[in-house]
Amino acid sequence: MSNQYILRKRNGYSESLFIQGVWVDRARLEEKFWSGINKNGTVVSEGLGPCWEWTRSTNSNGYGKIFLKKVCAHGTPKRTVFIATHRLSYIVAHGPIPDMLVLRHRCNNPPCANPAHLLLGTQVDNMADAWRDGLIKPMKGEDAPGAILTEEQVVWARQCAQDRTVQLKEIAAQVGMSENGLIAAIYGTTWPHIPGDLPPRRRSRRHISEALPEVRQCLADGMSDESLTAHFGVHKLTMRRWIKIANE
Ligand SMILES: [Zn+2]
Repeated sequence: MSNQYILRKRNGYSESLFIQGVWVDRARLEEKFWSGINKNGTVVSEGLGPCWEWTRSTNSNGYGKIFLKKVCAHGTPKRTVFIATHRLSYIVAHGPIPDMLVLRHRCNNPPCANPAHLLLGTQVDNMADAWRDGLIKPMKGEDAPGAILTEEQVVWARQCAQDRTVQLKEIAAQVGMSENGLIAAIYGTTWPHIPGDLPPRRRSRRHISEALPEVRQCLADGMSDESLTAHFGVHKLTMRRWIKIANE
């Protein structure tokens, strides 16, 4: 059930909102909202005017939240339904928030629920805002989510590439990552902060006739197309042509 839209229902007595999958009484919800809002909050910039700050409970990100209902359905665990105050404010002022979109704060003040400070955007926009405002610190090296390599392994892999002692493929197998990922680490696309020289990329240094014996050797060693491309520092289409010729 979508939790992104509101339907209004007049049952003759009161108006209800359908929100987060439950029906709530509109008048009571608005009363709750206004009783926790300070309309003279922070003024982030003159143009924007004051924030409407939520003064009650917030979640761990600082967004205000309002308790809607406890839902008890037979056979399923109880569910407590909350709505974020800025979302509620936006929905009431501007209408539904389409699925897949998020609300962004122009004022960068999470407890603010001033609809004039809220913009619809994608999650990507939201992340871009956070980067711009320094809320997200770039994680690097072993701290980065999904990091496979350790710093020590990167140093070792770069050394191997420099000396050409161990094949890329073998290193990749040993550290348990893809060759492409390894190439990125070795040539500094990732892990750029590790001190020391990067192994030189073998920039299209020579004519195919000169490279051919080595290409053949590498192919015989079972080097992949990606590794060859990185190894010789040529465009992948060039490499494809070289491989074709080497195999003739
Ligand atoms: Zn604001």
